[in-house]
Amino acid sequence: MKNRKVKIASGLLILIVIFFTACSNPVMRKWWANHLHTWEWTASTVWGMETGVCSECAETGGLRLAPDMMGEITAGSVALSNDFISYDFTVTLSAFKMGKYQITQAQYEAVTGHNPSHFDGGVGLEPEAGEEQKKRPVERVTWFDAVEFCNKLSVLAGLTPVYSITGKTLDVNGYRITDAVVTADFTKNGYRLPTEAQWEYACRAGSTGDYSIGIDGIEVTILNLEDYAWYSDFYSRTHEVGKKIANAFGLFDMHGNVSEWCWDRYDFYPNEAKTDYTGPDGGNDRVHRGGSYDLLAWQVASSHRHYAQPRDPYEQIGFRVVCP
Ligand SMILES: [Zn+2]
Repeated sequence: MKNRKVKIASGLLILIVIFFTACSNPVMRKWWANHLHTWEWTASTVWGMETGVCSECAETGGLRLAPDMMGEITAGSVALSNDFISYDFTVTLSAFKMGKYQITQAQYEAVTGHNPSHFDGGVGLEPEAGEEQKKRPVERVTWFDAVEFCNKLSVLAGLTPVYSITGKTLDVNGYRITDAVVTADFTKNGYRLPTEAQWEYACRAGSTGDYSIGIDGIEVTILNLEDYAWYSDFYSRTHEVGKKIANAFGLFDMHGNVSEWCWDRYDFYPNEAKTDYTGPDGGNDRVHRGGSYDLLAWQVASSHRHYAQPRDPYEQIGFRVVCP
């Protein structure tokens, strides 16, 4: 009887030792718990990004946009006008954060492992003198690629992805997504594309004219648009992000450079006020906003709507991200 109690006690002791060994050993912990890493962030070699080391298991692999890359956009409302059709469609928006810059080629590559951009620095595709190649905006991304980027970055940053992406079809490159079924849960905390209303609200930054208002308080008109925007350059190319004057919300390149994919499907606006509107339910085309380096002034205006098939990559279309 006494011998049996000793056996039980020593058995328990061994279990306790195994338990504590497992808890303190990083490899065991990861296998055991598949735990959510607690990232500690330090500056990345990629401009505007930070890499994470887990403070509990020492694993590396976290990646996010540096917090100062995201502009704080306060709650408010915006009147959307369908270009030159003058009925008002007012959207009231909750506060959100928006990328101050278009996603760069280096940032895209750090997250996805690919740089699909046309303006890749090759012969005839060089950046302008004094500009950094890898800080040019990513382009030739399909709308599907843009939402997948948001999800991948969310996972790397320890956030919960917004999008469900199933049934992916890839093109001959093996990585560009040309079809998928995408649904969104906007209650999640991950990165996402701006809605069209968020985009225009952020672009306008309180202005009601054709263009934004600058961080210097000067309203942008066709007379000073070139101080704020890369546009109307029919033969040319994309430019390093952030080289022109920011708007009053601290956002760069809202007019021109590359046009920016938004979440919304394209259709006429509804004829009634909405709150946190996320676009129509039907339709295939997706909205992109802001216009590109090769377009005329009126085509890069705050209210000007562009749309394209979500499967098509263009060297004039990139994107920026938002988060709650
Ligand atoms: Zn960890």
